[in-house]
Amino acid sequence: MSDGVIILGAGLAGLSAAFQLRKGFEVFEASDRAGGCPDNYAGQLLHLDDKAVKEMVEGLLPGNLRGHKAAAIYSEVGIQTLVDALVQRVRAVSYGQRAVEIDPSRKTVVFGTGYTAWYDSLISTIPLPELVKIIKDVPGDIADAAAKLGPHSKDAVPGIMDYLNSKGIISIGRLGAWEDSGLEDAIMDGRNAALAIS
Ligand SMILES: Cc1cc2nc3c(=O)[nH]c(=O)nc-3n(C[C@H](O)[C@H](O)[C@H](O)COP(=O)(O)OP(=O)(O)OC[C@H]3O[C@@H](n4cnc5c(N)ncnc54)[C@H](O)[C@@H]3O)c2cc1C
Repeated sequence: MSDGVIILGAGLAGLSAAFQLRKGFEVFEASDRAGGCPDNYAGQLLHLDDKAVKEMVEGLLPGNLRGHKAAAIYSEVGIQTLVDALVQRVRAVSYGQRAVEIDPSRKTVVFGTGYTAWYDSLISTIPLPELVKIIKDVPGDIADAAAKLGPHSKDAVPGIMDYLNSKGIISIGRLGAWEDSGLEDAIMDGRNAALAIS
């Protein structure tokens, strides 16, 4: 049995994917709130250099963009407000659901609560080492490579992504793709993942 798309994580990457998907989905978030950053993005600045992202944000927060470079919104305006607007549109977010096991052959995700969900497609935004750790029967070389990832050890990322793609898992976002990327990249990652499976 399959139930559409499962998205793991309700940060900007996961919410952007959900917002732009054209098929059934459910977002599962480990914590009790959306947005990822524990400090509500204090001091963070979202640059809007990508036309499609800018249009999306303008649509969600009409009249809220402040001038800076092409356009940007400041945390005070704010980025958490953007998260809240996305959650309002996306709706299907379940909180307190930490993924603890993924079985790619059965296409299931088991959560810490004991709940099991079935998927057609899986988009993950959880940190890449954590993702690999919870995949059932992951090959030893992939597990070793993921465990060795660090801020300056990224050489193994393409090989890990190849393995995940072969299992139908799309891993995106700052820690999901193991990139030192920003808010706009997270939104773009979500859009690209949604396009890839829509
Ligand atoms: C200190 C700091 C300052 C920054 N400043 C800027 C800035 O000024 N401008 C800028 O563009 N970018 C900035 N960034 C980067 C920006 O915050 C990130 O790129 C962006 O928030 C990443 O979004 P994400 O959705 O990829 O990840 P996250 O927001 O981390 O979302 C991942 C979500 O997955 C959830 N999760 C984790 N494990 C599980 C699990 N097992 N099951 C279910 N859910 C799970 C988490 O709870 C989280 O909500 C900064 C980052 C930091 C740390």
